[in-house]
Amino acid sequence: MELLKERIRKDGKVKDGNVLKVDSFLNHQIDVKLLEEIGKEFKRLFGNEEVTKVLTIEASGIGIAVETARAFGVPVVFAKKSKTKNIAGEVYTSKVMSYTHGREYDIIVSKDFLGPEDRVLIVDDFLANGAALEGLIQLIKDAGATLCGCGIVIEKGFQPGGEELRKRGINIQSLAIVDSMDPATGEICFRD
Ligand code: 5GP
Repeated sequence: MELLKERIRKDGKVKDGNVLKVDSFLNHQIDVKLLEEIGKEFKRLFGNEEVTKVLTIEASGIGIAVETARAFGVPVVFAKKSKTKNIAGEVYTSKVMSYTHGREYDIIVSKDFLGPEDRVLIVDDFLANGAALEGLIQLIKDAGATLCGCGIVIEKGFQPGGEELRKRGINIQSLAIVDSMDPATGEICFRD
């Protein structure tokens, strides 16, 4: 998605530890017009899939999921990062290793909002090692729901998550794939 790549080139900040900061338009301040276009692009890419729910993880996935769900005319469900497990039994739960915080946390979704009848499109802001997607895919499996695919805004192609998940036959569509980025110069190279 050219509009997105241009914006990343203009406003993305390359940090140490292979972290790309996009706080000025995606992760802190949000450019809602850009998000609307992202939602429409995911609808174009997954429009044939008869999606019934869009699933993401709080917090940064929610805005993306809302615009995607608007384009599909379906609800958003966002997995909550849980500190307590006192609602076990009523929820699906799985574990995710946080890329940016370096620690493991639980994610939960209420059994009220995901079930065997659902056809689920996952969306998220970044794909790096694939832990966040793995956690969400596990919730879909536990619910007996069908995974339609994963829509990612920015994939870091030099990290292994995308390749591993695609090898397993999962339909992953990334709107921008970063092949390399240099914290010293700030240069970001995209895959065509
Ligand atoms: P993964 O689970 O695939 O290793 O990492 C994906 C998750 O980590 C995303 O949900 C995102 O929040 C966070 N993340 C991974 N890499 C980056 C990055 O370069 N920049 C930002 N802002 N978040 C990232």
